[in-house]
Amino acid sequence: MEISQSRLQSTVESLAAFPTRNTMTPGHREAAEWLAEQYRAIPGLQVELMEYVLQPGKRVPEPTPAVQVVATLLGRSSRRILVGGHFDSLNLQGQPHEVPAPGANDDASGTAVALEMAHLMAEHAWENTLVFVGFSGEEQGLQGARALASRARAENWEIDAVLNNDTVGSSSNLIGQSDPHQVRVFSDEGAPRELARWIEWVARQELNDFGVKLVLRKDRFGRGGDHTPFAEAGFPAVRFIEVHEEFARQHTPDDLPEAMDFEYLANVARVNLHALVILARAEKGPTNVRIERADRHSARLTWEGPDLVTVYWRETTSAGWQSWTDASGFETVVEKVNIDDHIFAVGAKEGFPVQAR
Ligand SMILES: [Zn+2]
Repeated sequence: MEISQSRLQSTVESLAAFPTRNTMTPGHREAAEWLAEQYRAIPGLQVELMEYVLQPGKRVPEPTPAVQVVATLLGRSSRRILVGGHFDSLNLQGQPHEVPAPGANDDASGTAVALEMAHLMAEHAWENTLVFVGFSGEEQGLQGARALASRARAENWEIDAVLNNDTVGSSSNLIGQSDPHQVRVFSDEGAPRELARWIEWVARQELNDFGVKLVLRKDRFGRGGDHTPFAEAGFPAVRFIEVHEEFARQHTPDDLPEAMDFEYLANVARVNLHALVILARAEKGPTNVRIERADRHSARLTWEGPDLVTVYWRETTSAGWQSWTDASGFETVVEKVNIDDHIFAVGAKEGFPVQAR
């Protein structure tokens, strides 16, 4: 499976060519129709235009009907992995229907990553069900993501992971800072953090010249993203975003494809793909993961669930996994690694681990 940089670029350019995709304008419906068409062209996907109502609040004077795109690739199990970006755009320099809002980086870039994942993942059959989402209403307070997260709760969706890509297509800003080799992954404490930590580890295993910069926060200061309603609903949900945002372009007519770095965007897509492939075939993770001291200087781990697992450990001061080994039989001893100075976790052979307590 190889990421197509040219397809990513062409998706971004097509979306940026709409005068506006602001959810308060009919433009967002046209963009949703276009995006749904792209998903419908991929064999095997069930494509839905999900209607919901924007509630009065930030940038919404009265209840306003809206639509977003949900494309599903059924797996053998009903456990779901979501990957998405928001296709709606915003220009704060005038009335929504009067000003152009190309929103190339924010967030045609993430929308293109989700669509690219669908193109590649739909070529194969998977254990788990994959859901590709083009969110809208993000710029009105994450309302599309809120609508889908509450629907997921109401319909008892079992969601293993949510990968939200928002503003992932530029490696530099206008003051000369640049980092073409990393993407930030933001995560809240708990399951989202463990998902993020594991994604960083996956990228380290799979890619040479590109990696994940973990940020141990739910999002940037005073800002939110479409992963947040899912994390608040109790699902493991994280946000991918470039390292050096350019705030002077965001939410202006200058958020154009010309200001993007499509090689960088393709690398972010590669991180998503490596994680998604493993999550798509992952069995259900372990439960009741316990740790105790063994033979004075070693660590004994026990768990329930999968027989074959990977045990990970790290110094308490390290954000990322430093060592790992395969194990089986619901119990293992890691020799000569003391439990006082290290944090351990156990994961199914494929899938992200659960911290041992
Ligand atoms: Zn955004």
